[in-house]
Amino acid sequence: NFDSPRILSIQSHVVHGYVGNKSAVFPLQLLGFEVDFINSVQLCTHTQYKKVTGQILNETDLAALFQGIKENELDNYDYLLTGYVGSPSFLKEIAAVYSHLKLVNPNITFVCDPVMGDNGSLYVPKELVPLYRDNIVPHADILTPNQFELELLTDMKVNNLEETWKAIDVLHAKGCKTVVVSSSELGEKGHSLALASTILGNSCQRITITFKKKEAIFVGTGDMFAALILAWMHKTKDNLKISLENTIATLQAILERTLLSIGDTSHTPANLELKLIQSKKEIEEPKVIFSANCT
Ligand code: ATP
Ligand code: PLP
Ligand code: MG
Ligand code: MG
Repeated sequence: NFDSPRILSIQSHVVHGYVGNKSAVFPLQLLGFEVDFINSVQLCTHTQYKKVTGQILNETDLAALFQGIKENELDNYDYLLTGYVGSPSFLKEIAAVYSHLKLVNPNITFVCDPVMGDNGSLYVPKELVPLYRDNIVPHADILTPNQFELELLTDMKVNNLEETWKAIDVLHAKGCKTVVVSSSELGEKGHSLALASTILGNSCQRITITFKKKEAIFVGTGDMFAALILAWMHKTKDNLKISLENTIATLQAILERTLLSIGDTSHTPANLELKLIQSKKEIEEPKVIFSANCT
């Protein structure tokens, strides 16, 4: 089979470690996708390290790169994948890129991780919130907000399961076929709950997975989550249950290996970098331990 699906991924690059494109591209390539990637920033490391240096790509740079892709007639993509965006003007340019891609391939799937904040605090300029809500979300086929981002995008409070499904339905009504919340505080003690919902014909399929929380704060996992959901939704022809199970299985195996490698040493940003390359097998063949429940 020579027809690998083509992805355009617009995310961060770090010289050392695994966030953004560095945590998304390797798994996608391993799973058989042809990935073209634009690095929205190039930093020495992710932003939790003590010293961060590097460059930010601006919207003019993005437009120039994309112009070349168009003029070389390489603009026929099956997927657009986007993650962290730091400025309103860059996000507007991404919207322009999407509009063009959609004209070239009306069947393109837009997988959007609307990265804005976590646990009640915003870590992007506040102007991005209405932009995501009004200009991006209505075009996203698969959206992966966390609990806080779900609240921002819907102007709703989300404190329990029922409110979460309601907010997700608001996103469906705006046009998102599939919404996946990668983790939430709605699980039992010591656990995290992932939720996913997709429109199937006239009905809606709702899925949850409870998994054990690990005692560490990882970086790059959200970006890898979105990439793996894209990959498995493609491979299973939109089977959301299997896609969520496989995605979480791979992530848990990687985090397990990462913690094992650290042993008793301290949880520094460098020590906590994902053991991605070493987990090739668990990316290719996830072993499901936490099964999903359908509601
Ligand atoms: P965003 O990047 O938009 O903030 P998020 O906060 O939902 O998204 P994470 O909290 O990184 O993203 O979770 C993504 C996935 O990574 C989860 O579904 C889970 O499988 C895994 N994960 C991340 N941190 C942990 C942890 N401490 N214990 C267990 N699993 C984790
Ligand atoms: N991109 C960069 C440059 C970062 O510094 C970070 C987090 O610090 C991320 C992306 C986010 O990674 P994730 O949400 O997947 O943990
Ligand atoms: Mg998070
Ligand atoms: Mg993220």
